[in-house]
Amino acid sequence: MAAAGELLLLVPTRSYRTEDFRAAARRLGVPLLIGSDRCHRVEETFGEQVGLISLDYRKPEHAAEQIARAARRRPIRGVVPADEGTAVIAALAAERLGLPHNPPRSAWRAANKHAMRQALRAAGVPVPRFWLFDLADGPEAASRQVEYPCVLKPLLLSASRGVIRADDPGGFAQAWRRLGGILEAARAERRPRDERAGRQVLVESFVPGAEVAVEGLLRQGSLEVLALFDKPDPLEGPFFEETLYVTPSRHPAELQERIVRVTAAAARGLGLEEGPVHAELRLPPGGPVVLEVAARSIGGLCARTLRFGAGLSLEEIVVAHAMGLPLSSLSRQPGAAGVMMLPIPGRGVLRGVAGIEAARAVPGVEDVVITVPEGREVVPLPEGDAYLGFLFARGERPEEVEAALRAGQARLGFDIRAPLPTV
Ligand code: ADP
Ligand code: CA
Repeated sequence: MAAAGELLLLVPTRSYRTEDFRAAARRLGVPLLIGSDRCHRVEETFGEQVGLISLDYRKPEHAAEQIARAARRRPIRGVVPADEGTAVIAALAAERLGLPHNPPRSAWRAANKHAMRQALRAAGVPVPRFWLFDLADGPEAASRQVEYPCVLKPLLLSASRGVIRADDPGGFAQAWRRLGGILEAARAERRPRDERAGRQVLVESFVPGAEVAVEGLLRQGSLEVLALFDKPDPLEGPFFEETLYVTPSRHPAELQERIVRVTAAAARGLGLEEGPVHAELRLPPGGPVVLEVAARSIGGLCARTLRFGAGLSLEEIVVAHAMGLPLSSLSRQPGAAGVMMLPIPGRGVLRGVAGIEAARAVPGVEDVVITVPEGREVVPLPEGDAYLGFLFARGERPEEVEAALRAGQARLGFDIRAPLPTV
């Protein structure tokens, strides 16, 4: 199944998934071109083996122009963003190249938590109550305006970085200051795509209940669900590190149907039309509430839990869709699968990981991948945004998979030592 043309993959500064997308392109016979704003880093990893174009990620319009210019010399037939930030660039570029795309405005809304909340509320999609503040105004007045418990969060970051629960005005002021530090650090990393939004705080009412994630593919505005994941560990705060994702869902069929209907309404409400979506919802007694809908596929290495049809990976589906290649089956292979994202328990330098073989030996565990190299400093949430690694399991039933993941994690030991004080 060779494609006439190249795939442009937009990789963020740090991406776990470049390798999996690259493998997908290879299996589909699609030549890969990598777009990055840190080409020297990509080059270090891949050498001369892939085509590279250097893009100005801080200015999406400019990056799209750079892509359009490159497309005059090369046959770019599909653009895939690896994260939310690059989704806006992908939409702008695909629009210019006449490829199927999300309206750029929709991709932008999906990548800005406040714009997303406004669009969803306007579309009648259930979302938490929310308030927007400027960091510069300080927490006092804001803490009297909101309701408790609530969640403070940044508009543009991801992976739960900076997301903090507060139960009263005192906790609110503390969370506010902590988030202020995180936003300042993000600005120093030149992270914000938007200066103003990088100095704002979104506060939402805390939505209780179980949490689920929906992985889907939009084609001409219609949503196909690729997988519905339960998150069996309660996420009550004050920080929200993700750990377990297990599919298929164990929620009743009728509730699952409601989750899918609300997700489809949310994608429509944002105006998303083409490509992967990753949605997160909470399930309070009144029915599903949308936490977010991102115009990208699931992050980290979590997509490795999924196999479709005759063995396609999620990345292959995303690439095939972007390239306009035929997609025969989007049904997940039978059985249950799951992933444990290994959270960082404390700040320090990772000195070693014990028990990897023992964890792999747990029946049902398929693989353990440690993504932090030894010697690297690790930072837990809410300041950090990385995981130590990922544990994968497969089985017949979701309960078995969950048990295998817990048993596997129990066998792992991380030696993290406090860094020596700098003098
Ligand atoms: P990110 O884009 O960084 O993942 P999210 O808005 O998805 O940020 O929040 C991360 C996590 O924090 C969610 O998965 C959820 O567990 C928790 N959370 C966020 N907002 C709320 C809320 N309003 N009510 C309850 N939990 C929330
Ligand atoms: Ca999220």
